[in-house]
Amino acid sequence: MAMPTQAKYVIIGAGIHGLSTAWHLADRLRANGRGDGTDVLIIDKAGIAAGASGIACGVVRNNYFQPAMRELMAQCVEVWESDPKAFSYHPVGYMQISSESMREDVASIHAQQQAIGYESVFIDGAKESMAYMKGIFDDWQAKGITSVLHEKKGGYANNTASMYGLAKKAEDLGVRILTGVEVTGFRSDQATTAIAAVETNRGTIECEQVVIAVGPWVNTLWTKLELPKTVSIKDSQGRMHHDIPMWRYWALEEGTLGVDPNLQKTNDGHMPPVIHVDTDAPLHSDVDGSLITEEMWGIYYKPDFNFGGIQGGAMPIKVETPVDQVAIDPYGPDSPEFVVDDNFAHMWCSALAFCQKRFEGQIKHYKKEPSGGLGCFTPDSFPVFDRFRDNVTVIADSNHGYKMIGVGKLVAEELLGGKSALLEPFRFARYAEGRLHPTSHSPFPWS
Ligand SMILES: Cc1cc2nc3c(=O)[nH]c(=O)nc-3n(C[C@H](O)[C@H](O)[C@H](O)COP(=O)(O)OP(=O)(O)OC[C@H]3O[C@@H](n4cnc5c(N)ncnc54)[C@H](O)[C@@H]3O)c2cc1C
Repeated sequence: MAMPTQAKYVIIGAGIHGLSTAWHLADRLRANGRGDGTDVLIIDKAGIAAGASGIACGVVRNNYFQPAMRELMAQCVEVWESDPKAFSYHPVGYMQISSESMREDVASIHAQQQAIGYESVFIDGAKESMAYMKGIFDDWQAKGITSVLHEKKGGYANNTASMYGLAKKAEDLGVRILTGVEVTGFRSDQATTAIAAVETNRGTIECEQVVIAVGPWVNTLWTKLELPKTVSIKDSQGRMHHDIPMWRYWALEEGTLGVDPNLQKTNDGHMPPVIHVDTDAPLHSDVDGSLITEEMWGIYYKPDFNFGGIQGGAMPIKVETPVDQVAIDPYGPDSPEFVVDDNFAHMWCSALAFCQKRFEGQIKHYKKEPSGGLGCFTPDSFPVFDRFRDNVTVIADSNHGYKMIGVGKLVAEELLGGKSALLEPFRFARYAEGRLHPTSHSPFPWS
């Protein structure tokens, strides 16, 4: 494609958010008679699905302790369900299986799911939880579990396939996707802070609106937009905390046990829900019985033909390197620094065996290939969806985002002048105003 010099809407990043925004924007422009997909240009420095969306485990769930996250996820699941084939979406459901320290949190999630009509079942009590799990997997053996939340909706999707499904929907409506073009800066005209043009390694593109959807690279473009590197946050007691860094990185830990995915079928021969277990029960090695941890730990897993086995992950690791010095490229499995090591394989495979007998002694099948990747997090680990500098929309999902396929729909409506109540709790001003999301007892920074 020839390098354009002008586009009404420039969307930076061809991951879940850039592609979803472009598709929905093209659709709305045409429906409103205000234009069409040819007004929308996506640019990506690498290619479609080159970032986090292309390596994500792909889990889609509603299980969030924060009401605003749950309501947003319910909207996102509707978008996944609108075309499961195109999005390579598997609606197998999702289970949050927890120890006592999380029981009350999860009970409240269930109550609020009922209130918004999101179908789920809550099992309360140790004996009841064991019986429920054994009814699904007869080899279930996880100790110390006192509640199970079984979401009947959600499941997972195949990361790259769903991105290509979204890209096709956008391109069918006339959207142009330009790959191998890197945004290097922004130009604004005098007298206004609005962005008049996006500068790239292949020339300048004049535009009316810019959408930043660059996942783990958000700190780089945020800095180029001269947005604040630190924030002030008002806590629940009304005290202000100043100079909190706007961004920080965590390394996501995921891998695959290279066994036949059919190994994880349910008692009645079906593909199972995604399993997520959080517990404070001591975890011992499945190799030599040694103690791995007595702290709260968590894992998730699912059979996945795309990954070729049982795929999943554990808690991420905080990156201590100062944010501007973190080497994001090469990204994902290509990174020499941010891929999982043998400790992850040992912990995760032992945890699988803790949960189900069928995984005992299976660590030998763990796939020794690079996996995992960086995620960029906000100060409270929840997304920032907001407008800056008059015409720049930032979609910074704080690594919650593969499942958030519906955010692009809401952003598209806002680009055309609407206001989304679902996006409102995720504005940047919440930090200074103290409108923070509640936090749970989960060992994960994203629950
Ligand atoms: C290992 C891992 C597993 C995960 N699992 C899940 C999961 O199961 N469920 C879930 O909901 N979320 C998951 N996440 C989080 C989720 O993947 C991300 O939140 C989401 O994919 C981010 O999407 P995005 O569109 O913002 O960015 P990305 O998908 O990262 O896309 C950003 C794009 O921007 C491009 N770009 C960057 N800088 C520039 C520039 N200067 N110029 C032009 N282009 C640029 C990149 O090339 C890239 O293609 C996971 C993340 C990781 C790392």
